[in-house]
Amino acid sequence: MKKRLEDPIAVTRSSLPPLEEYVEMLKPLWKSAWLTNMGDYHEQLKEQLKEYLMTPQLELFVNGHMALELALQALELEGEVITTPFSFASTTHAIVRNGLKPVFCDINSVDYTLDVEQLENRITKHTTAIVPVHVYGNFCDVERIAAIARQHELKVIYDAAHAFGETLDGKGAAEFGDLSMFSFHATKVFHSIEGGAVAFRENWLRQRLYELKNFGITGYESVEYVGTNGKMNEFQAAMGICNLRHVDEEIAKRKKLAKRYRERLSGVSGIRLCPENPRVRMNYAYMPVVFDGYKRDRDWIFQELARYNIHARKYFYPCINRYACYQGQYDEKETPVAARISRQVLTLPLYADLAPEIVDMICDIILEG
Ligand SMILES: *Cc1c(COP(=O)(O)O)cnc(C)c1O
Repeated sequence: MKKRLEDPIAVTRSSLPPLEEYVEMLKPLWKSAWLTNMGDYHEQLKEQLKEYLMTPQLELFVNGHMALELALQALELEGEVITTPFSFASTTHAIVRNGLKPVFCDINSVDYTLDVEQLENRITKHTTAIVPVHVYGNFCDVERIAAIARQHELKVIYDAAHAFGETLDGKGAAEFGDLSMFSFHATKVFHSIEGGAVAFRENWLRQRLYELKNFGITGYESVEYVGTNGKMNEFQAAMGICNLRHVDEEIAKRKKLAKRYRERLSGVSGIRLCPENPRVRMNYAYMPVVFDGYKRDRDWIFQELARYNIHARKYFYPCINRYACYQGQYDEKETPVAARISRQVLTLPLYADLAPEIVDMICDIILEG
């Protein structure tokens, strides 16, 4: 018997370390009174993340969006930047807020990343960069994107907000492109309450990113760039350090739940799940399900789950090229696959401590439709 749950189930729930563990981390801050501006925890987290993400260089930021915005600014780009409309607002906003023009390329209908077959058609003489998204942790076609970027001399800045800790053929997500942005928002697999990072290889970028997040200050008496305040504080870094100790465990729990969803929902006519790529170590951040010709449509399932107090999310609906703030500039019809998927996709609840029984209940509701 299914009945409405008393406590709501959201699409995700922030993981938290044991309270005592975090409190222990706070004690030194009360001694030093060094609360932000690249303190000890900031430096420790940075080193730990370099290792975890397998990247030679990394800078931390107050949030993922600021990380992406400043990554683009650091490269001093001009003109047009090709990106996907099937993402979170941040991806395109970061381009626009840098005075650049986003050019939307459609996604493929298999894993919803940029359709590399269409990528070259979107390149003009004004194109300077590509900002692809490893959406839901599905790796973009990094090899093709690299080849196209090389041929046309374009920079590649990955929005890797969903790809924390993932590997492709054993290589970390940070290995691809010129720069990769990770988000450590509370709702992500790994978080520092709010937070983010840019991973890169070229040495000169380190100082530039550091200065941009610190008002463009280059010395005690010199300010050389119009920077901003994008610094991660010590309370964030402490949370990050605690969570990093537990993240592998969290991912293992998510993996079990994702497997349970897959066992119930795969092979059902009209229901599509992202293919599992044997080359990829996933982080199981999201459980996107596409209803394409299923007996019930996405919006019906969404509302039916809500009747039971289960709140899935329409990630990503609407597409960015339909946002009111971009009205009149873009047409969703130019990216028909993204337009269609955005109306068919539902992201089901998935987080480490979600009860397996809830996963079963969600599947029952969907299948009994
Ligand atoms: C979360 C997210 C961001 C922004 O990260 P914040 O840390 O929330 O600023 C950017 N892009 C994508 C795809 C995201 O999911």
